[in-house]
Amino acid sequence: MKLSSQLMDQVNVEQLSPMMRQYVEMKRAHQDQLLFYRLGDFYEMFFDDAVLVSRELELTLTGRDCGLPERAPMCGVPYHSVDTYIARLIKKGYKVAICEQLENPALAKGMVKRDIIRVVTPGTLIESDILDEGSNNFICSICCGENGCGLSFCDISTGEMNVTQLEGKDQGMVINELGKFRPNEIIYNAAFMDRQEVIAFIREKLCCTADQWDEEYFEENAAQLAVLQQFGVRSLLELGLEDMPLAVESLGGLIAYLRETQRTGMERIQTVKLYNEAQYMRLDLTARKNLELTETMRSREKRGSLLWVLDKTRTSMGKRLMKATIEQPLISAAIINRRLNAVEELTGDGVLMDNIVDQLTGIYDMERLMTKIVYGSASPRDLTSLGCALQRIPPLRQLLEEVRCGELQDIYSRLDPLTDVAQLIAQAISDDPPIALKDGDVVRKGYDQQLDEVRYLADHTKEVIASIEAKERERTGIKSLKVGYNKVFGYYIEVTRTNLDQVPAEYIRKQTLANCERYITQELKDLEARVLGAQQQILELESRIFEEVRNAVSAQLSRIQSTAAAIARLDVLTSFAVVSVRGDYVRPVVDVSDEIVIEDGRHPVVEELLAGTPFVPNDVNLNNRENQIAIITGPNMAGKSTYMRQVALITLMAQIGCFVPARSAHIGVVDAIFTRVGASDDLSTGQSTFMVEMNEVAQILKCATSKSLLILDEIGRGTSTFDGMSIARAVIEYIADKKKLGAKTLFATHYHELTVLESIIPCVKNYNIAVKKRGEEIIFLRRILPGGVDDSYGIEVSKLAGIPQWVINRAFQVLEGLENGTGVEAAKIRTRGKARTEEQQQMAFVDENAELLKRRLREADVDAMSPRDALNLLYELKKLV
Ligand code: ATP
Repeated sequence: MKLSSQLMDQVNVEQLSPMMRQYVEMKRAHQDQLLFYRLGDFYEMFFDDAVLVSRELELTLTGRDCGLPERAPMCGVPYHSVDTYIARLIKKGYKVAICEQLENPALAKGMVKRDIIRVVTPGTLIESDILDEGSNNFICSICCGENGCGLSFCDISTGEMNVTQLEGKDQGMVINELGKFRPNEIIYNAAFMDRQEVIAFIREKLCCTADQWDEEYFEENAAQLAVLQQFGVRSLLELGLEDMPLAVESLGGLIAYLRETQRTGMERIQTVKLYNEAQYMRLDLTARKNLELTETMRSREKRGSLLWVLDKTRTSMGKRLMKATIEQPLISAAIINRRLNAVEELTGDGVLMDNIVDQLTGIYDMERLMTKIVYGSASPRDLTSLGCALQRIPPLRQLLEEVRCGELQDIYSRLDPLTDVAQLIAQAISDDPPIALKDGDVVRKGYDQQLDEVRYLADHTKEVIASIEAKERERTGIKSLKVGYNKVFGYYIEVTRTNLDQVPAEYIRKQTLANCERYITQELKDLEARVLGAQQQILELESRIFEEVRNAVSAQLSRIQSTAAAIARLDVLTSFAVVSVRGDYVRPVVDVSDEIVIEDGRHPVVEELLAGTPFVPNDVNLNNRENQIAIITGPNMAGKSTYMRQVALITLMAQIGCFVPARSAHIGVVDAIFTRVGASDDLSTGQSTFMVEMNEVAQILKCATSKSLLILDEIGRGTSTFDGMSIARAVIEYIADKKKLGAKTLFATHYHELTVLESIIPCVKNYNIAVKKRGEEIIFLRRILPGGVDDSYGIEVSKLAGIPQWVINRAFQVLEGLENGTGVEAAKIRTRGKARTEEQQQMAFVDENAELLKRRLREADVDAMSPRDALNLLYELKKLV
């Protein structure tokens, strides 16, 4: 997006007014951004920016004299509500440069100094009211090289930075990482332009802002320097990045971009986490979507997803970590078991679990509060929120004093009580401060003596004056002496004529009235200056003290940050424990075996959604030997998809370290879960349903390993029966072959012919989901049983959906013909089977009845017929109709 202003380019800068000249110079350096130019209580936009913003935000477009014959188009927004306007523009994909007044316009000599203080972009938001508390807001930097690429993901609102390096040119891996972090903004180097598949993914699926960033920042030396400076280390070795040039270049490029846009607050990013995608279970975007990990496929809502069931976290930090945890299942059995130990300890001690939940409740978003504090944008209320959160840490720590497992002990050791910081905030900031500093009463009484004195003066002017009056009366002996105030002379002492001889020499006469004289004294002048300046002084003192406290808290960033991270971990583990207790989940045995054996497993989400109706539990027994592939047949609606997803979700839950909905589970870790489920039309990319299906299958067969778990639902249904069945069989044979793939697989199909494979391939086993038939009705038993079925009950199920009875009857008739393998219907289908799709065949078949009818009539020799033959023909014709 280039917002180079034509109008602005044409203007002759010399003719512009000084302020407009300042504006134009700034705008020229920020052509790709909308420039919000601070002018008093407003942020104004001019020229093309004004035209565009007034249209986008429905603001009135006005004009302003600018030195040219024509007025400059102008629109503006009030400074106090600027965040909401910026948020709306960012959502629409714009970037906003904020130009601030750097001095008080009232005191400025000549042009007010202004400068860009920050460029707000979709990936660099820090305003917690715009951000979703349960999700990170990542910006991604991609640096592609000859044979690989570096990827960095940063959430500046929490200070989190991740980096990795992917070897080779597999674009799918880059897409997977992008799908995992779902950044809101991407910057990339020139070489990235080759990766057309990734570019298409960003454009069509992520739909986020993506811009090429200056090549010089990705350059090896510049990038290295930026990285070393940012993390305060002397060599890349200290960060583990010594052999990762592309990772360093992507990181360096990102740091430069953040410096350019943020200007301040870079110290918020203190650490970088180097990760390797091989540490986590591989989940491509299709699997994430199909398994509905964090949102449902249809409505893209959290309700109905695995996250919805598992997320009982109490803090925003915990919420974000929960989401990230579900998105990144582990593959190290040792680390998984560490987490499971913690969940077990918590589920085993209900009191401890409940107490932790209580303490976590009410801990505000320390990570995002710290960002505001470091950036200097924290309000007084933000500071008290942090203070409240910190006060909960010592009791939380105390609860964990006697925990036994390594994971909880580690969390305990990372919880810094931070009592010093909590105390500082409690002592310095009042309990219920206003949002804005200028509203006063921010600093607590008793914290600063000077402030207390000024406040006393402001609040007790009358008493102070009365005390001066009393003192002067006593000193001079003039009983009628009065202290008064008027606008011209300010405070004065009034003495009646009769007492003039008692006036002390140091009184300075200011005014003579008919029966009295008015004087001022040095003391009164001082008082006046103090009273009149008190409010201003209070504000100045309050903001100085507030800033000192904020800076002192900011200096403790790393302690607070690591404590916040520990709280997030505790929150996630406690949430797992809470869900496990409520849902009656069990601890899975997790190891490196090749088994997936589940007894009485349940689907965590369907079970929750059924609320009341009992969920029928089912077993599974998969391994890489005799039970490698399960072919699952059964009527529509019987529960095949539910069953297969349940196996995938239980495996995934075990690998994130959570208990699972089952009576028992033994999960040998899988390196990936792949899914091919249902029809996911991708018409936006110009692909047919069948093409999408085949692409997904191709991808699975290419990327899966013998350690993966494959969920394949109705492969081959998007084409003609024979083609589809042939593809399905070939896919099974390929997966079954240990030399080719050998992955554990659940394969649901309506092609009952495939069940024959059980007797041909030793590692294939047949299962079916049981139903009972009563007349035309079927009853779903939802039980998985060994063996295949030879009936889909598709017609019975369609009846349940409300298909008209005529169609149902006719369908049964057609089916009968097909099953008998007799009649024109079956014959025609047999001969044309390959060429036509199933639907076409059925349509043709209806036409063929009419054809048959005509033929029988044509062939009938009516003259030669006996009355009995004629009657029989009539019966036959009627039957055909
Ligand atoms: P199709 O072949 O038409 O895609 P399917 O066999 O895959 O159907 P599912 O979509 O898995 O059927 O299940 C249909 C519905 O049955 C689910 O939405 C769920 O409400 C219910 N169901 C499935 N399994 C169970 C179960 N084990 N216990 C209770 N209800 C279940």
